[in-house]
Amino acid sequence: MRIGGFQKFSLIDYPGKMAAIVFTQGCNFRCPYCHNRELVLPEEFKEPIPQEEVMGFLKRRRCQLEGVVITGGEPTEQADLVPFIGSVKELGYQVKLDTNGSRPQVIRETIQRRLVDYIAMDVKTSLEKYQKAIGVRFPAEIIKESIDLIKGSGIQHEFRTTVVQPFCDQEDVSKVSILVNGAQTYRLQTFRAGPKIINLNLRDIPQITEQQIEAWGKCLH
Ligand code: SF4
Repeated sequence: MRIGGFQKFSLIDYPGKMAAIVFTQGCNFRCPYCHNRELVLPEEFKEPIPQEEVMGFLKRRRCQLEGVVITGGEPTEQADLVPFIGSVKELGYQVKLDTNGSRPQVIRETIQRRLVDYIAMDVKTSLEKYQKAIGVRFPAEIIKESIDLIKGSGIQHEFRTTVVQPFCDQEDVSKVSILVNGAQTYRLQTFRAGPKIINLNLRDIPQITEQQIEAWGKCLH
């Protein structure tokens, strides 16, 4: 595993659990609004954190922590993600996987092997606008495959859309809400352009406010 970051404690990233967070290095998308450029752009990667160091910490903290969040970058890009999660589960942790949904075959394997307890998937926008929103060519039907897989998994899950102009408007949110219909949770988030986003030009584009998003949420299917 290429581990680009490790947070030893969080109360907000795994609903209802005290968790550590593993940030994997590398992502197959290039979302212009991404805040994690040092986990996405190879030229900005830092020296990876040795996996033994992370596992050693998790072993020592078994009694204090309940969960481990695996996020990125994009975790399913890691060739050894499945055995890594297996080792974390062997320590007795609950595992939450954050994903962009680009590799349904990996998500399926983690579900079938009962390695994950919670899956959170970002759905960037409507399928029609997906390529623009992720900055690379990508077959959008794969996103739908992952959504359907996660919805039908029986595992605790959530979908979330960060509403970023000009990639996602009210109509896109409405289309996403149809795609995720039946999911346990669908969350909308506002976007704030920080100093480290991949495309800094986005800082000049006015963004949707929380009040507007709240109003959109009330109109959803
Ligand atoms: S999928 Fe996530 S980590 Fe990858 S570029 Fe997009 S926002 Fe960044």
